[in-house]
Amino acid sequence: MANKIIVAGGGHGGIAAAALLAANGFDVTVYEQKQKDEMGYDWTDIFAPQALDRVGLPMPPENKYEYKKNMTFFGPSANTPLKQDVPEEDLEIKMERKDIYAMLIAHAESKGVHFEYGCEVLSPIMSGNRVIGIHTTTGDHFAPMVIDACGVDSPVRRRLPASCGIEKGAGKFSKFIVYRAFYDKVADIEDDPYRVYFFPANRLGIGWVATEEDTTDMLIGVFDELTQADIDAVSADLRAKNPQMGNRQLRGGQIVKIPVRQPLAVMVCDGYAAIGDSAFMTVPVIGSGIANSLKAARMLADTIVEDEDRVYSCETLWKYQVRYFNALGSSLSPLACVKLLLTKLTSEQLDYLIDNHVLTADDLTIGANATGLGDFLSMSPASMPDRLKGLAKRPDIIKKLLPCGKTLVQIVAHNATMPRQWERRKVFSWAANYCRIFRNYCTQ
Ligand SMILES: Cc1cc2nc3c(=O)[nH]c(=O)nc-3n(C[C@H](O)[C@H](O)[C@H](O)COP(=O)(O)OP(=O)(O)OC[C@H]3O[C@@H](n4cnc5c(N)ncnc54)[C@H](O)[C@@H]3O)c2cc1C
Repeated sequence: MANKIIVAGGGHGGIAAAALLAANGFDVTVYEQKQKDEMGYDWTDIFAPQALDRVGLPMPPENKYEYKKNMTFFGPSANTPLKQDVPEEDLEIKMERKDIYAMLIAHAESKGVHFEYGCEVLSPIMSGNRVIGIHTTTGDHFAPMVIDACGVDSPVRRRLPASCGIEKGAGKFSKFIVYRAFYDKVADIEDDPYRVYFFPANRLGIGWVATEEDTTDMLIGVFDELTQADIDAVSADLRAKNPQMGNRQLRGGQIVKIPVRQPLAVMVCDGYAAIGDSAFMTVPVIGSGIANSLKAARMLADTIVEDEDRVYSCETLWKYQVRYFNALGSSLSPLACVKLLLTKLTSEQLDYLIDNHVLTADDLTIGANATGLGDFLSMSPASMPDRLKGLAKRPDIIKKLLPCGKTLVQIVAHNATMPRQWERRKVFSWAANYCRIFRNYCTQ
């Protein structure tokens, strides 16, 4: 029984951790609501290939991936294109989501992981503050350790008792509601194959049109509700700017969610650890979460393997969170402030920043292993005079930047004080302050 591990939901990090644990002699079962052939979405994803190596996976076969094209960013008025120029060695790869899953699942099966498909996880089974199993539509399952890989709205995380100290919901401006669909391509374009638009059709969010050989890939992401009328309005705006995008829908067409917030303040309790979207591990501004989930899988599996007493208490599992914050979380959480800043700017202010070179293409040259603020705002000293000159004329924008700067300093300083060892009172106090910093800035 001590070697038994439950993975609730077949998220990427959960399956990768399952494989690493099974390879170390653990008896691991993944409980997934979908059927095997339904796993993953009907579209491609971009991620850092280096993450595969971290979980013992080889590079996929060459016919299964291609290197991502540079993106060109546009402000709301689309006056000034900001062209990324990511160095070749830093490029991410693009793969079909279903192929990523096929690779992860085949690898996990080869290590002895069991999968129970068509099984919806309903809630955790608790004994006091300890998670001892999961209630599912196929019955109750027990194990001393439950890995929560159910994604952003995980019913396991949301139904933990408050005494575990783990946030249940994601909070305001913390999820992108996304529509993604592929259309036919009705014209050729000369340049900028991958166009990303801030505040398309004046909606608080982003849109992209990526032009492929035979198709166009459109994504719309907003913070609030996404109605059919919104989808129609933003699609019309994107189509007007991209006449190559036809009207015939070929793939996709779902509305889904991506967390775009700071990582969960507390990711573990006795017998429980959250991973991937259920722990909000995506890069806050752009929503990429696959590579971080895989990297976290290695950290979680190592932590579980090192727990020789097989107790899986907060004391032992906290090491996983410390590892995650040291490697990734501490640089990701400041980015959540930058995302909140974007929610406070008007379309005109964002246009001004782009048109006047305060925000430049270099700032948006994001490579495969970019995780932190420095990667996104890689301001060279040479660009500073222009930026400052541009800003000096706009006290209204400076007024919005100052609280963001203050919050950035606060969160960086606060992350440095994260307790290295589990002490319930200290951890809960640290987590409460971490959440308060974001809440305060969000409501300012
Ligand atoms: C449109 C879109 C585009 C994206 N593009 C990229 C990209 O290009 N690059 C990138 O790195 N990331 C991208 N992401 C984000 C990425 O999908 C996630 O960050 C990443 O997959 C990690 O999430 P996860 O695997 O933990 O959770 P999920 O992908 O949500 O997987 C959760 C799994 O748990 C299952 N599940 C959920 N609830 C239950 C339940 N109650 N019972 C049983 N099973 C359950 C689900 O069926 C699913 O299989 C994108 C997301 C979206 C929506």
